[in-house]
Order: sequence, then structure tokens, then C-alpha cells
Amino acid sequence: MRVSECPGLTRVQEKKLKLAVEGRCELCSEYFALPFLEIHRISRRLYREMVRDPSTRILVVCHLCHHHIHRLPVRVKDQRAIVSRRSFSVRQDIRKVLGYTPKPYFPPYDTDLSQMYDEYFYHFPPGSFRLAG
Ligand SMILES: [Zn+2]
Ligand SMILES: [Zn+2]
Repeated sequence: MRVSECPGLTRVQEKKLKLAVEGRCELCSEYFALPFLEIHRISRRLYREMVRDPSTRILVVCHLCHHHIHRLPVRVKDQRAIVSRRSFSVRQDIRKVLGYTPKPYFPPYDTDLSQMYDEYFYHFPPGSFRLAG
């Protein structure tokens, strides 16, 4: 089996996310049976603003599109465009799912965030992203 890109997510959450997009791949817009859909985690190093809203860090895509995202790769900018095209209700549903994190089994999202920040600043010292603009 594949390794989850979002270790903080439970199977139930993953399923709910797939249901939130109505079983539709967010990249090719085709409908799939839920087991064929996967949760893609958008790179946060390139997309700092996403820290505020966990729903903007993920994409629900079919197996093929997921493969494409990693192999081509699909630019973060384009992944981000998909996120911004989500309807209000889909966005709300995804946020609701992500807000539900069973504490006994998984660390809170914030812990993960601070680690990612450390990683980010290690590679890109504060201010460096301005130049990259
Ligand atoms: Zn697809
Ligand atoms: Zn992925």
C-alpha cells in the first residue's frame, strides 16, 4: 500500500474529504469510486499562506492525476488554482473534516506546522522568498 502523504489524517477523514468533493477528482474532474481517489498534500515550502487554512493544503485527486502531480510535476501554482476554484460548500466541508482530529491518536496540526516552519526557514531564511517572488 502507498504511504499516506497526510499522516495526520484518519481513514475516516480521508473518506470524508473524498465525499466532500463528491467523489470527483479535483484535477481531471472525473468521478471515481472512493478507493480510487487519493489525498495529495500541496508542498508548503512553496506556499506559505496555506498555513492558515488546512483545507488549502490538500487536493483530492484520482490515482492517475496524483501520479501526474508528482511526476510532471504539476506546479504548486496550478495546484493552488484548483484549491481556489472550490465552491464555498466544498471548502466548508473540507475544513469541517480537517477540523476533526482525534487527539488520543494524532498530534494536533499545530505541532506539525511548527516543524514545517523550521524546515522552511532552514532551507529558505526569512526574507529570501521575496527575491524568489
Ligand atoms: Zn484525475
Ligand atoms: Zn501527492
